[in-house]
Amino acid sequence: MKNIYLNIHKPNLLNLKKAKRNIENNNVIGVPTETVYGLAGNAYSNKSVKKIFKLKKRPSINPLIIHFKNLSDLKKDVILNADFIKLYNALCPGPITFVLNKNKKSKISNFALARKKTVAVRIPKHRVIKDLLNILKFPLAAPSANISSKLSPTSAKDVFDEFGNKIKFILDGGKCKIGLESTIIDLTKKPTILRPGGISVKKIQNIIKKKVILKKKFIKITAPGQLKLHYSPGIPVEINKKYAKKHQALIGFGKKFKVAKNHFNLSKNGSLKEAANNLYKTMRIIKKRKFKSIAVNRIPNKDIGCAINDRLKKASNK
Ligand code: AMP
Ligand code: MG
Repeated sequence: MKNIYLNIHKPNLLNLKKAKRNIENNNVIGVPTETVYGLAGNAYSNKSVKKIFKLKKRPSINPLIIHFKNLSDLKKDVILNADFIKLYNALCPGPITFVLNKNKKSKISNFALARKKTVAVRIPKHRVIKDLLNILKFPLAAPSANISSKLSPTSAKDVFDEFGNKIKFILDGGKCKIGLESTIIDLTKKPTILRPGGISVKKIQNIIKKKVILKKKFIKITAPGQLKLHYSPGIPVEINKKYAKKHQALIGFGKKFKVAKNHFNLSKNGSLKEAANNLYKTMRIIKKRKFKSIAVNRIPNKDIGCAINDRLKKASNK
């Protein structure tokens, strides 16, 4: 059988070096992180960053998250503050992104920042992106490796499904451990959650010992995750539904969810963490099986359930 996945590569030393060369030549590549797969390019290079926007069909007003190897590199591009240090010590590396003020000496491409004076930064935990950052001399701009407004990829094959051979290189780091995008917190003013994720608000409040604002209604779009239709599987999604209609798939959760051909259980033992991990994969499967739309049972709105509901709400355009 013909192997169509010629651009998917194991993350061994040789391939990490090839990935490095690709990125140094201003190409963009698919890279695993613990949240979702990223489309990564040199954050200091306008050329690389423009390629990311073009491939993703991403509006140029949507700035990109910049991924760093460590704190000392981070300091070159952003101004740190006390809340950041507390959260960094407790949660990094990990699935949390911080919006901070740009350092005057920063070399980050203005296109990556959509010309803002702030930068969204993350220190990822996944071994493969860490190994890659360790052999590079610059940070990586890496939004999720999907066409804008669509589902994020949680495996190397998902990245291939999105871009095919339009990207030359995809590093295969297996299935993403979390499977939903990072929590984003703006620390340039009173700590504000711009996007819920794997790290709960409660946890953050306990660390910085102050109340965190949860941004619900957005007057102005400051984050890609705030665009109205986002995380879309490409077919209509209806939330908080008990039953499926004709030709509709039903996504449910827990032991009591009935087994049926059109039923998809995110976690048989009722784990929200597992449900979050299976969400995008399940929606991709449903789309491939040619269902016309998706109905979703009510998902408990606690812990990572808040992040699941945030994505489902946006997928349903509500
Ligand atoms: P995404 O690339 O879709 O995973 O989302 C990136 C997120 O980072 C957005 O949701 C924004 O909240 C945030 N963001 C990225 N860059 C900036 C920036 N320069 N200033 C403020 N927020 C940013
Ligand atoms: Mg995205």
